[in-house]
Amino acid sequence: MDDAGRAWSAVVAGCWFAELEGRAPADPSTLAGGFGWDGPPTPSRNAGAEGDFGRSTVHFGRDSGSVEAVSSQSVDIAVIGAGPAGAATAIQAARSGARVIVFEKGAHGRDKVCGDGLTPRAIGALNELKIPLDDAHQIRGLRMIAGKQVRELDWPTTDRFPDHGAVWPRRRLDAALMDAAVEAGAEIVFETEAIPVIDDTGRVTGVEAGGNRFDADLTVVAAGAQGAVARMLGADRIPDEPFGLAIRTYAATPRHTDVHLEACLSLRDEDGTAIPGYGWMFPAGDGTVNIGVGALSTMKGFKKLNLNTLLEAYRHLVQDDWDLGPNLERPRAWRLPMSTQRRHGPGWVAIGDAAGLVNPMNGEGIDYGLESGMLAADLFLDDPATAPARYDQLVGERFDAFLRTGRRFSFLIGHPWILKPGLRLSVSTNAIANITLAVMGNLVDNTTPGAAGRVMSLADKTLGVADPILRKTRATA
Ligand SMILES: Cc1cc2nc3c(=O)[nH]c(=O)nc-3n(C[C@H](O)[C@H](O)[C@H](O)COP(=O)(O)OP(=O)(O)OC[C@H]3O[C@@H](n4cnc5c(N)ncnc54)[C@H](O)[C@@H]3O)c2cc1C
Repeated sequence: MDDAGRAWSAVVAGCWFAELEGRAPADPSTLAGGFGWDGPPTPSRNAGAEGDFGRSTVHFGRDSGSVEAVSSQSVDIAVIGAGPAGAATAIQAARSGARVIVFEKGAHGRDKVCGDGLTPRAIGALNELKIPLDDAHQIRGLRMIAGKQVRELDWPTTDRFPDHGAVWPRRRLDAALMDAAVEAGAEIVFETEAIPVIDDTGRVTGVEAGGNRFDADLTVVAAGAQGAVARMLGADRIPDEPFGLAIRTYAATPRHTDVHLEACLSLRDEDGTAIPGYGWMFPAGDGTVNIGVGALSTMKGFKKLNLNTLLEAYRHLVQDDWDLGPNLERPRAWRLPMSTQRRHGPGWVAIGDAAGLVNPMNGEGIDYGLESGMLAADLFLDDPATAPARYDQLVGERFDAFLRTGRRFSFLIGHPWILKPGLRLSVSTNAIANITLAVMGNLVDNTTPGAAGRVMSLADKTLGVADPILRKTRATA
C-alpha cells in the first residue's frame, strides 16, 4: 500500500456519529478503529496500472483543470462517481446511444474498501450487463460459523438468479466495469470531483467539474456513502435509521481457491458483547483472502467499538485454519449506508450507496448499485422527463420492503439477548441455515413461494408490527 493509501487509512468509526452530534470528528485515530472521513478511494496494493481502463478513456488530473479532451459540454446523462452503480448507468445508457459522461474523483486503478463478495444476485446483474466473469473467483456457497456450529451451504437454486457467486477484488471489478462503459461509448474523467448544478427552481441541470459546467438532462448521483454531494441535494442518510461500519485487509493464504465465502456470525467485542455483524474470509483466488469484520450501528456500545481491535481478534481466531500471512495492507474501514432522505428530484436520481441501498442483513451493496444503476438508465431511455419520479417508485417497489425489514431486523439483533438465541436458531439445522442464507442474501422476496419466501413474508409483517417497540428499546450506541 502506498502513501496516499496510508494517508486515507487513518480512520473514523465516528464519522456519522459526528454528524449526528453536529460536530466534526475530533481525532480520527481515536474513533472506533479509525476510518477515512469522506476521503477518496485509494490506489490498491496492485495500483499503478494506469491505462488499464480502456483505449478511449479521458484522463486528466486535478491540477490540470483541462477539459479539452471532453467531446461535448452538453450530454444526456452526467454521472458523479465511477463505482459499480455509476458504471452500470453508463454502460446501459451508452450502449443504447445516450451521450454519457462520468466524473470520478479517484485515479485510474482506484480501489474501494470492500469485502469483494458477489452473491448470485450480483452475478445475475453482471450477466445482465454482459460483463465477462473470467477474472472473478467463482464461489459456490457460504460457510456459516456460529460458535462451534459450522454449516457449509450451497447458494440456493432459483429461477431468478445463477447458482454461484464470486469474489472479485474491487480494483479489478470496477476496472472491468469502467472498461465496458468506455467501450459502450461513455466518456470518463478521472481525478476530477463533480458537484451538481442546481438552478433557481431547485432543478439539477448538470454538473460542475474541473472548473467547467456540463449540462445534462439527467444527473446521476453515484458518489457512494453520502457526503458533500448528498448534502447539497438533501439526500443524507436518515439519522434514526441504522447503518453499518466495516473494515478489511488482505492476506496471503494457501486456501485462496476455497469455493465458499466464510462468515463468522458469533463475533464479540472486547467486553464480550455479542456483535450484530460478522467476520468474513472471502477467498479471492489470486493467492489472497479478503479478511474483514463489520457491525451494525444498532449494537450497544457501537460508538466505542474499535474495528481495528475487532479485526485483530478475528484474525487471531482464523489464523491457523487459513494459515494466514501478514496483512498485505493496512486495514481500512468505511461506511455502509442503509437509508436516504431522498433519492430523486427534478433532473437527478441517486443510485447505489448514494441512495442508501445496502442490505442490512449482510452488508451487500454491489448488486443494489448495479441494479439501481441499470434501472435509472432504462427509465431515462424510456422517457427522460418522467425518469426521476418513476425511478423512485420502481426502486422502491423492488427494494424498499426488503430493506425496511432488514433495518427492523437490525434493531432486533442489536439486543444481545435476542441475537444469541437467534444465531443458535439460524444455524441449528441445514434446512434453517439454508433459509437464513436465502433470506439474508435477498435471494427471495415475500412473493417467492417456499419456506424462505414464507419466512420473509412473516418477518415483514411481524417486524412491521414490532417496529415502534424495537425503536424505543434500541440499544444505546
Ligand atoms: C468494508 C466493506 C466491505 C464491503 N463488502 C461488500 C461485499 O463483500 N459485497 C458487496 O456487495 N458489498 C460490500 N460492501 C458495500 C459496497 O462496497 C458498496 O455498497 C458499493 O461499493 C456501492 O457502490 P457505489 O457505486 O454505489 O459506490 P462506490 O463504490 O463507493 O463508488 C462511488 C464512487 O464515487 C466517487 N465519488 C464520490 N464523490 C465524488 C464526486 N463528488 N465527484 C466524483 N466522484 C466522486 C468515489 O471516489 C467512488 O469511486 C462493503 C462495504 C464496506 C465498507
